[in-house]
Amino acid sequence: MSTETLGFQAEVKQLLHLMIHSLYSNKEIFLRELVSNASDALDKLRFESIANAELAEGAGEPQITVSFDKAAKTVTIADNGIGMSREEAIAHLGTIAKSGTKEFFSKLSGDQQKDAALIGQFGVGFYSSFIVAHKVTVLTRRAGTAFNVATRWESTGEGDFTVEPAEKQSPGTEITLHLRDDDLEFADRWRLSSIIKKYSDHVGFPIRMKKQEWDKDAGEYKLLDEWETVNQAASLWTRSKSDITDEQYTEFYKSLAHDMQAPLAWTHNRVEGRSEYTQLLYLPAKAPFDLWDRDRPAGVKLYVKRVFIMDDAKELMPVYLRFVRGVIDSQDLPLNVSREILQESRDVRAIREGSTKRVLSMLEDLAENRKDDYAGFWKEFGQVLKEGLGEDFANQERIAKLLRFASTSADEQTVSLADYVSRMKEGQEAVYYITADSLAAAKASPHLEIFRKKGIEVLLLTDRIDEWMLSHLNEFDGKPLASVAKGGVDLGKLEDEEEKKAREETAEQFKELIEGVKKVLGERVKDVRTTSRLTDSPACLVVDEHEMSANLQRLLKQAGQ
Ligand code: ADP
Ligand code: MG
Repeated sequence: MSTETLGFQAEVKQLLHLMIHSLYSNKEIFLRELVSNASDALDKLRFESIANAELAEGAGEPQITVSFDKAAKTVTIADNGIGMSREEAIAHLGTIAKSGTKEFFSKLSGDQQKDAALIGQFGVGFYSSFIVAHKVTVLTRRAGTAFNVATRWESTGEGDFTVEPAEKQSPGTEITLHLRDDDLEFADRWRLSSIIKKYSDHVGFPIRMKKQEWDKDAGEYKLLDEWETVNQAASLWTRSKSDITDEQYTEFYKSLAHDMQAPLAWTHNRVEGRSEYTQLLYLPAKAPFDLWDRDRPAGVKLYVKRVFIMDDAKELMPVYLRFVRGVIDSQDLPLNVSREILQESRDVRAIREGSTKRVLSMLEDLAENRKDDYAGFWKEFGQVLKEGLGEDFANQERIAKLLRFASTSADEQTVSLADYVSRMKEGQEAVYYITADSLAAAKASPHLEIFRKKGIEVLLLTDRIDEWMLSHLNEFDGKPLASVAKGGVDLGKLEDEEEKKAREETAEQFKELIEGVKKVLGERVKDVRTTSRLTDSPACLVVDEHEMSANLQRLLKQAGQ
């Protein structure tokens, strides 16, 4: 096979352009991305060798090396991982295969700062090389193939790239960055090793650089022919909590989640007993752009005895906690675990239940002790958490306590059901709510008049999911949830004798009028009655107690049902 010149996929061109122009203030992340790819490649080799031991033969101890050449203006990152075939190099280094690509591009705003954050969430990946390099050369050989079927991939990051046959003595990948003149600072031992410590300290493989020594005669540092490991080289979650700083936890999260922002909270535990595993789970501060994409990869990576198994193990976390990112490392699962086994495994079920409890505890702790942060969490993920009421019956009560609503006494969604109950009036038996399309519509509803007059708080439910949620949440703390827009809202003991008498008198007084209105409206209504619920408005529509609410009817209509 000969040299081939191929064009980048249109999205890659767009991404490259964006990256070079938006990420200039954070150039050093290219190294984090390339080290992370090298680490993935080592993970993959280890994983594939479980089924095919020959693959790893002669590969040597897994490692990543970072070297540089000041004179040649290059930085090189090499690994002895899985490597790529020619076809793989073309596919992986010429297109973007990630799910959510379309959505990502549709969200770009043109505002460089916002777009930079979006690129971060999307995962900058291999193409970030071009932030500092005017040319990138990749020499790669797939594990299990001969030395003379290696591939050289090269590009200047504009419209196209070339691939040609090459030779490579050992399997793996070597990426050489030809630095732009503005970025020669990266051809420096100290600079590179401090970036590695900052972003990649937790990587589970040794990252090695050549030692250097001060040469008195030359008056400069000279590189020795001796390698040393510059990171901790132990996967972060395998280390003991007390040895890990907040900064290390934060950096691990950022590289794991491709998020530029620090996480809100994390929980790190070694669980022993029936099922043994380690979990390190994070709450992001901001929702990813594709949170609502049901096909997006789940956020938890599965390892078995420190060997990476899969990225999006959906079985490890319920769907309503899909915003959680992290790692679960099991001691019990077989290394060759498949998705089918995952679905049936009792160990996996135990892990999911245990992890769910940990996440709920983390949320409870946040709600209790860091109210502002919890408010931030609720804004980003509250609607997703509500799904849990219908999905996770065992934890329904804990989830209900975590809910926050707007009400007639708070425009922001900050009122918990417990707050509401603690403010209930003497004689009030139900938790009252109203559903509407918007806060303004809810607040303007005539149904609220009598409640306002009596100083009774009403929850204002305006999220799309609320109607669905209400079908799973009937009561809280023994108090039924009652819509103020349904039938004869029974104010029960809240109505005093005088009001009762007045209501009955009114009914008597307007009997004839009511009969007349009924005749005029005919089949169009079920009933017409007088009410004591309105104080300012002359009339309003209500739904029978056992029927769908008007808002739900509207939603179903919109959905074409
Ligand atoms: P991601 O890592 O999120 O998949 P990247 O842009 O970082 O996206 O990398 C794209 C793909 O290129 C990887 O998924 C992998 O298949 C391939 N790749 C990149 N670097 C290496 C490497 N060092 N060894 C083997 N494959 C690699
Ligand atoms: Mg990557």
